[in-house]
Formats: sequence, C-alpha cells, structure tokens
Amino acid sequence: MLTYHTAIIGAGASGLFCAGSFNAPKIILDHNKLPGVKVGVSGGGKCNFTNRFISATDYVSLRKHFCKNALAAFKPTDFIELLDENKIPYEERAKGQLFAKDAQEIVRFLVKRAQQANTDFSLATEVLDIKKMEHGFLVRTSGGTLQAEHVVLATGGLSYPSLGASSFGLQLAKKFGLHITEQRPALCGLTFPKEMRKTYKILAGNSVLAAVQTGKHLFTDQLLFTHEGISGPAVLSTSLYWQEGNPVQINFLPNIDVEKILVQHKQTNKKVSSVINLPGHMAQNLLGPLDQPLANMTKSNFQAVIKHLSAFEFIPAGTAGYTKAEVTAGGIDTQAINPTTFETKKIPGLYIIGEILDVTGRLGGFNLHWAWANGYCAAKDLSKKF
Ligand SMILES: Cc1cc2nc3c(=O)[nH]c(=O)nc-3n(C[C@H](O)[C@H](O)[C@H](O)COP(=O)(O)OP(=O)(O)OC[C@H]3O[C@@H](n4cnc5c(N)ncnc54)[C@H](O)[C@@H]3O)c2cc1C
Repeated sequence: MLTYHTAIIGAGASGLFCAGSFNAPKIILDHNKLPGVKVGVSGGGKCNFTNRFISATDYVSLRKHFCKNALAAFKPTDFIELLDENKIPYEERAKGQLFAKDAQEIVRFLVKRAQQANTDFSLATEVLDIKKMEHGFLVRTSGGTLQAEHVVLATGGLSYPSLGASSFGLQLAKKFGLHITEQRPALCGLTFPKEMRKTYKILAGNSVLAAVQTGKHLFTDQLLFTHEGISGPAVLSTSLYWQEGNPVQINFLPNIDVEKILVQHKQTNKKVSSVINLPGHMAQNLLGPLDQPLANMTKSNFQAVIKHLSAFEFIPAGTAGYTKAEVTAGGIDTQAINPTTFETKKIPGLYIIGEILDVTGRLGGFNLHWAWANGYCAAKDLSKKF
C-alpha cells in the first residue's frame, strides 16, 4: 500500500498552499479533474488573492479570536513576496484589494510550488473515508486505499457544488466527534419576497451606488438588481451579516440630501424622478406610484418618497443559495483546533484548514488569505514532524 508522510484532502486554495509550504513525501487528492478550480474562477477570473488591510475583525466566527495567530503568522506581504519572486503580475484596487492579472497564473504557481515540494497529485479521485489507525490514517478513495501518517482536511465549504464543493469534510468531522456550527450561504445575493419580485423585476440588470445595511453593518458599494432580488458587492458584503427574518435597509442616494433636492423643486411640475440623481429609468421604476409632480405632493407624500429612496426597507425572503454564494459561513467549530498549528486537539495527526472551518472572511480577498494562512501554519507544524 502507498504510504505518505501526509495526505492532503482537497487540491483547492488551502490544500495546494499547504502542499507547497513544506517538503515531505505527500499526496494531494481531489475529485476534480483539475487542481485549484475555485481559485481559477475567483475574483471574476482575476483572483482577489489578498487584501493589504487584514485584521481579525474582517472575519466572522463563533470564536472571534481564533483567527489571530494565523493572520499574524502569515501576512498579506508574505503572499505578495511570493508573487514578486515568481514574477506574477498583480494590481491593487480600492480598499486594499489585490488582484492577479489572470487567476490561472495563481493556480499554475500553486501547483508548481507544490510539485517542487515533493507532492504527488491524485486528481479525479474522490476521498470516501478516513480511518484513524494506531499509527496514522487509512485513506479510502475511489482509486484505492493509501496510508498516511498525517491527514490535512482541506475540502472547503458547501458553496458552488459545480466547482467540486462537497459535504464530505463535514461528515468526516462529525464522525470524528467534532462540533459543527450552523452553516449558511454567504457573500451572495438576497432575494425579494414574492410580491416585491414582481414589482421590481423591471429593474433587473440595473446597478447603482448604494448604502446597504443590516443591523450595525453598513456597506456602501455597487448594488445590482437581479430577477430575484439584489446582488452586487454592497449586497454580497451585507449577506455575511444578515440573519433570516431580519430587515435590510437601502439608501439609494448615499451622501445626497434627498429632502433638500425635493424642497428646491417643490413649486415646479417636475416629477420626482426627473430631479433625483439615479441612472436612466431607474428612478421611475423604483418610485412607481410615488413618482408625482412635486407641486402636487403633500407633506406625507414627501416623507414617503424620502423614506423610499434613502431608507428603503424590506425583509429578504432568503439568500441566492449555495449555487451562487462565494462562501459558506459557519463550519467546523474552531474550539477543536489548535490555532497555531491547525491540528485537531482530540485526533493527533489530523489537521483541518480553509473554508471548512467556522471562520468566514468579508468580501475583498479575505477568504483566500485565510486559506493561504491556514495552509502555511499547518505546513510549518508538519515540517517539524518530518
Ligand atoms: C465564484 C467564486 C469567486 C470567489 N472569489 C474570491 C476572491 O476573489 N477572493 C477571495 O478571497 N475568495 C474568493 N472566493 C472564496 C474562495 O475561493 C474560497 O474561500 C477558497 O477557495 C477556500 O479554499 P479551500 O481550500 O478551503 O476550499 P476550496 O478551494 O473550495 O478547495 C476544496 C477542494 O476540495 C475538493 N473536495 C471536496 N470534497 C472532496 C472529496 N470528497 N474528495 C476529493 N476532493 C474533494 C474540492 O473539489 C475542492 O477542489 C470565491 C469563491 C467563489 C465560489
């Protein structure tokens, strides 16, 4: 039977980075035919691989402090240095977000680095079960069984099953007695209730700068109307904090005093939609029957328009779901994991890294950075055991 120092389950962001970060005979397995499939499509094909400004507050987890060690051990500059050394071009966009020119270049870099660090690849191989033995683990796969002294579980979240996401890692964690926190799709669109869907369907495809808020969390960025509801960066960010049943408020004219504009045109026959600064027919469609000539409007009409444009509130029916969510919030409770090494406390030799853990980053490169940082920490510990 093939025997390895380490078997890494999942050739995604965290698994590949882990494989390339220590030199020991290891195998990385994935049921996809190609490695790094999600990385390859990330950031709209440009891979938002990290963010210059990362702190623990950029992550949502039941245990707020867990991510601190890994973020201190592996910084954005560490990944940037690797790209510089390998002459991989990248660019900085707003809010410290760093993007590659081509996500495939990042995938090629990760694969090459792993190969150079003594890694065998077993692709199109589904991992079916893992058993703890007296010494090491038995890994049962669709291609046979192998033995490894250590296992790194890096099977990611539930989002985008079309890119290889599976619940295998979570089932395995349950089998090993680990606690799983509640999971939900995040960094995704929010859907309108049925009636609103009909009313605002006409706006699908329109996008506007808006301030979107749920609870204390407010994001000012682009908002896109879809056939089901709203999406775009401001909404994706909001979805990470939105809890089912809670309202979402939208200001379609952030930084603009709507009341002042309406008062300025109060004596005219102009309609509201013609005096406010919203693109194309958006104002008319958004206002519907509220779009009247200003001179005819009563005080309560006025207040209704202001509320509609700057404090539009609704309770989303739900999220766009796992097929469209960039990440899965929730996962394996980090209480079971050593925050420095990512080894499980109860099952020596079993490491768990990446999105499968109950740590979810905001939109902007934070999730891939989490994957790199975890892979690095686990690798550092595994290299000491070789
Ligand atoms: C469309 C999209 C765009 C994104 N863009 C960005 C971005 O620009 N910046 C950012 O920071 N984050 C982005 N993310 C999130 C980021 O890609 C993930 O958080 C990150 O890839 C998680 O890394 P991971 O290693 O934990 O999991 P993954 O990268 O998902 O890797 C897990 C791997 O495990 C494999 N696997 C699962 N089950 C099995 C099994 N039983 N047997 C064998 N293999 C298995 C899967 O095939 C997969 O290859 C994006 C996500 C999506 C879906």
